[in-house]
Amino acid sequence: MDRLKGKAAVVTGGAVGIGRATVIRMAEEGCAVAILDTDQDRGEALARELADRGLQARFWRCDVSSEAEVKAAVDAAAKHFGRLDILVNNAGIAGANKPTHELTEAEWDRVQAVNVKGVFFGTKHAIPHLKAAGGGSIVNLSSIYGLVSAADVPPYHASKGAVRLMSKTDALIYASDRIRVNSIHPGFIWTPMVEGYLSGQADQAQARHGLEALHPLGHVGEPDDIAWACVYLASDEAKFVTGTELVVDGGYTAR
Ligand code: NAP
Repeated sequence: MDRLKGKAAVVTGGAVGIGRATVIRMAEEGCAVAILDTDQDRGEALARELADRGLQARFWRCDVSSEAEVKAAVDAAAKHFGRLDILVNNAGIAGANKPTHELTEAEWDRVQAVNVKGVFFGTKHAIPHLKAAGGGSIVNLSSIYGLVSAADVPPYHASKGAVRLMSKTDALIYASDRIRVNSIHPGFIWTPMVEGYLSGQADQAQARHGLEALHPLGHVGEPDDIAWACVYLASDEAKFVTGTELVVDGGYTAR
């Protein structure tokens, strides 16, 4: 309780999955949370659900691949809550799952527009508010796919590798402003993204079993496993942590 008391956060892609769990845990820890997402219905429903519990949350519709929309939403959230201390760049897409030589330029560009430019736009437009607050924390959702390879989703791998190093560079650039920047690298987490990934497989039970077997702990993760990592990195408990990659993957990358 109260690990984020008095702080305000923006969480992109906050309507479902990892983002939704992060919004809920942050709000429960005393944070005012702005939910930015393209899914208006579920984003507004989540904001209402939290408000009904007496917690502070509000939804703004925002496509993170649009700089104008990101600036407008981040500025509006900071104005509404009177400050901004935390940005979680969570919105992301898996994109086309084809071998590299079959990908179109448009398929490649869309993944980079959301997963890489989205992080850039979020960071760019949050920084003035974090500086005004005297410091803050930026948490970027990369992936195990930003650390090691698998023979699938080439644009996604490229995007998550980029996010890993963008986080370290921004950690160095903004350290003197007391703004910490870290990346989180989840293993497979049970969300609509992974449901979509499995829905393309002929035998879904077998595909799920195969995914679970990739993790030495023997199962796919839950959104809360990542939400708690976000709470930690956003909180003052992590005041000496910047430029790091926090791997939460059930042992996937330990082999
Ligand atoms: P998800 O279930 O697909 O949810 C993503 C949310 O982001 C959805 O609400 C989606 O809205 C929204 N979104 C998509 N594109 C957007 C855009 N351009 N602007 C704003 N919002 C947008 O994803 P997730 O599994 O929770 O993943 C969250 C993050 O963790 C992603 O960055 C992902 O790459 C990363 N990650 C996930 C896993 C995993 O196994 N789940 C593993 C490693 C890393 P719509 O429904 O309208 O599209």
